Amino acid sequence: MTRVHFLGTSAAEGFPAPFCPCPPCSRARADGPRAARSRQSLLINDDLIVDFGPDSYGQQIWRGLNLLPVRYILQTHAHRDHYCPDEIRNILHPKAIMPSGRRLHLYGNAAVIEQAKAVDGIPASEAGPDDRLLLHLLAPGDRTDIGPYRVTALPARHTRSETALLHIIEDRGNAILVGYDSQLFDDAIWTGLEGWGGRLALVILDCTMVDGLDNWPEGLERVVFGGHMSIDDNEAIRDSLLARGLADAETRFVSTHFAHMFDPHPDRIGPLFAARGLEAAWDGLVIELPTED
Ligand SMILES: [Zn+2]
Ligand SMILES: [Zn+2]
Ligand SMILES: [Zn+2]
Repeated sequence: MTRVHFLGTSAAEGFPAPFCPCPPCSRARADGPRAARSRQSLLINDDLIVDFGPDSYGQQIWRGLNLLPVRYILQTHAHRDHYCPDEIRNILHPKAIMPSGRRLHLYGNAAVIEQAKAVDGIPASEAGPDDRLLLHLLAPGDRTDIGPYRVTALPARHTRSETALLHIIEDRGNAILVGYDSQLFDDAIWTGLEGWGGRLALVILDCTMVDGLDNWPEGLERVVFGGHMSIDDNEAIRDSLLARGLADAETRFVSTHFAHMFDPHPDRIGPLFAARGLEAAWDGLVIELPTED
């Protein structure tokens, strides 16, 4: 099985956002952990984390995880709801014990790598045999082996400050598209997907605006969140992946990275997404994909 564990499923502020009195946050606060969403992160099998973010420490406690087998951290980009290089330094040798010969490998774009190098105590890539963290630069178009995984990096449509990445992660016959953070896919993303040319078993999509474009929250100034998507965009991507033969009837489409003001309470949006042939992720969701072996 390829196992994909959604450790966190919120946009940058979390749900409920700590200081926010909006009706969705107030309801989620009253409902407790069942409704809560921490910052976006995935654990793949037991050895790969996609986005080591501000809630990673808490997520291992809340989910009862043993992270000792983790060898690889793959960053989509360096925004602080996804990436905390200081925190990586805090949990590494020599502050914590890492057995001799044990290493973590951090993969990311130029911003991720530069910011890691700027943290006191994180060594430059391949600096010496004693280093416990090795840094690996990824650029759009790169296809590389990360341990047992084949990873293809695509250019996200997200921010001007860095080239955020989407990833296709292949594991024993299963291909997973990590499609956050991004706006509706443009030609560069479609060209990358077509060039890859396989069939996706799982598609994970940015849905920061939930159904908010149809259902704008009362009292909230109408702005479109640049660099992010809504349920309509997710549906359009699904239809296009199917039409291009990059997905089929077996492919699962899971939306995530939800913002508080659009009321991403799991009780509300679970049925809403199901009615449109999508799944709404929640903190703790585990998806298991059968493997060839
Ligand atoms: Zn984000
Ligand atoms: Zn709120
Ligand atoms: Zn971002």
